[in-house]
Amino acid sequence: MMYFILLSSTWALALTYLHTAPRLLSLGVPCLFTVMCGARILFWLRSRGDTPPIAAVASSMRRINILGAVIAASFTTWSCLLYPYGDAFQKSHVAFYMAITVISCIFCMMHVRSAALMVTAIVNGTFVVFFASTGHLTLIATAINILLVCFGMLVVLKINYDNFEQMVLAQQKTEALSNENLKLANIDSLTELPNRRAFFHHLDTSFTLAQAENHRLAVGVIDLDGFKPVNDLYGHSAGDRLLKEVGERLQDVCNAESMFLSRLGGDEFAFIISGQVNENTVLAAGNLMGSKLRIPFETPDATIMISASIGIAIYPDVASTPEELFDRADYALYQSKREHRGNSTLFTTKHIVEIHRDARVEQTLRQADLANELSVVYQPILDVNSGKTVGFEALARWNSKLLGTVPPAQFIPIAERAGIINMLTKPLLKKALAAAKTWPQHIRLSFNLSAQDINSSEATLGIIAIIANSGFDPQRLDLEITETAIIHDTRQARKSVEMLRKIGCGISLDDFGTGYSSLTSLHSLPLTKLKIDRSFVRNIQDSDASYNIVRSLLTLSREMGLDTIVEGVETQAELAVIKALGGTLVQGYVFSRPIQADDVHAFLNGCVEDSLQQWA
Ligand code: C2E
Ligand code: CA
Ligand code: CA
Repeated sequence: MMYFILLSSTWALALTYLHTAPRLLSLGVPCLFTVMCGARILFWLRSRGDTPPIAAVASSMRRINILGAVIAASFTTWSCLLYPYGDAFQKSHVAFYMAITVISCIFCMMHVRSAALMVTAIVNGTFVVFFASTGHLTLIATAINILLVCFGMLVVLKINYDNFEQMVLAQQKTEALSNENLKLANIDSLTELPNRRAFFHHLDTSFTLAQAENHRLAVGVIDLDGFKPVNDLYGHSAGDRLLKEVGERLQDVCNAESMFLSRLGGDEFAFIISGQVNENTVLAAGNLMGSKLRIPFETPDATIMISASIGIAIYPDVASTPEELFDRADYALYQSKREHRGNSTLFTTKHIVEIHRDARVEQTLRQADLANELSVVYQPILDVNSGKTVGFEALARWNSKLLGTVPPAQFIPIAERAGIINMLTKPLLKKALAAAKTWPQHIRLSFNLSAQDINSSEATLGIIAIIANSGFDPQRLDLEITETAIIHDTRQARKSVEMLRKIGCGISLDDFGTGYSSLTSLHSLPLTKLKIDRSFVRNIQDSDASYNIVRSLLTLSREMGLDTIVEGVETQAELAVIKALGGTLVQGYVFSRPIQADDVHAFLNGCVEDSLQQWA
């Protein structure tokens, strides 16, 4: 618009001088100006809406200053050259022309203050000197007038410009603030690693890139083993400090450009490796992280030992979407936790088969007539000193109409994961209690409970109701729970265990020694028995490590006044060692495999003594 004003005023002045001034001045120069201004108008029209890169802005502003000076000087010189050719009216037109255009230009260049000032100085300087030198009173008055008006204009310009500057600065501040917020929203405040949200964002972008560039991508999910009890034992601030150091140790391994580490929440971390990915390097990275975390953590209160289970999946080998890739890494983590605690597991096609099989088992379980298809078998628990059976552990069996017999090691974890284990516990417990009611008074019943059976008061009350309705004396019942069931939700587990103890049931800690929080669980729960896991019993006569573990577990439980059952004793050699270590209660194939309910009475009537005599 500034160039439009400039040109229209210029042509108006040129026309009044058309017949009095030389053609070059009245026509030639305006034509030249028109071309110059036209080019500039075109330039502005074309770059309308573009935001120039920051680096280009300063030089573009400098160009505007120079151009402003050149244009102001050219137009002013031109009008001064015309002046001598005119009569009084035409001369006044020159004054009018210069005054009106300079005011318009100041106004138009309000946001480029330096250019506006320069144009004002050039035009008004010339104007005042030129018209003052004419000696005409009217023209001198006009010059003074325009000088004062321009002064006023400049003051207004300054106020406007200051406001404009404030606005730009405020905008800049808001932008910086929102950038800071964005950063905070993507950072885990404790470890200062990228958080869950940042992780999934990065997963999406690197997945798209891997697809486009045809390269592989690995996702690893890390879960700490033995972290939860740290909070209980040493307090949350110790837990926080530990997590912070875990983050630092992991970051040391993930220092390459192609690796991205984040904390998903709690004691769960995850990493992404892009670019040159193969199973071996990824597993090696996972194992390195695992070994870094096994180094003891020194805190002011204690030396803390933890480990990490890691699940890894690689695109495109086993996944075709980012979600699938993450889910499969998570599944591999679950497998790690179950089978190779403290190690890395790579998701392979073997796991895909497993997932399909598990899904089939879960579907079948949900639709099965569980009251009929489930049955219970009983494995005796003996006192090796007296050679007498003291009780039986009830073990679930499932004979599915559709799938045939499915082992409990398979369907129990599936039911637990699917959250439907309560559907199984109820019929199993009813059957076990009904069978045990027919046993002699001194024979006890052990029954396995899952985490979900004690993770709410309602579930626990359901169990209590079944026991009460069965007519079986709760004093003769031991409920077996695992450490994992307890550390899942310590407070509720304690509450449930106390409720069960109150009605007279015993509580046995199953698979003792396989977890990491044994001592905490022991201190905080009213337990009555420990069951030493069978993994420590296998070939105990040849393994110093197993020997030492079982010996210290037996000593520990004796000191705590708890009975101990050693499970999974298969051979006479193992049994001899257990007996020598002072173990009294024993369960295992060496005496009997789990037997049918109907065979319990026959078993109690004698066949065991033979077995005991063999080693006695
Ligand atoms: P668990 O509670 O540790 O039960 C002991 C398992 O060890 C049983 O396997 C038993 O048959 C097996 N076993 C006993 N003696 C020996 C031995 O000398 N050598 C070896 N190698 N194994 C021995 P089972 O019946 O297959 O049960 C597997 C797991 O399934 C159980 O482990 C328990 O965790 C779960 N389970 C079984 N029944 C139930 C149930 O009714 N409810 C719940 N929640 N879980 C159950
Ligand atoms: Ca058990
Ligand atoms: Ca066990």
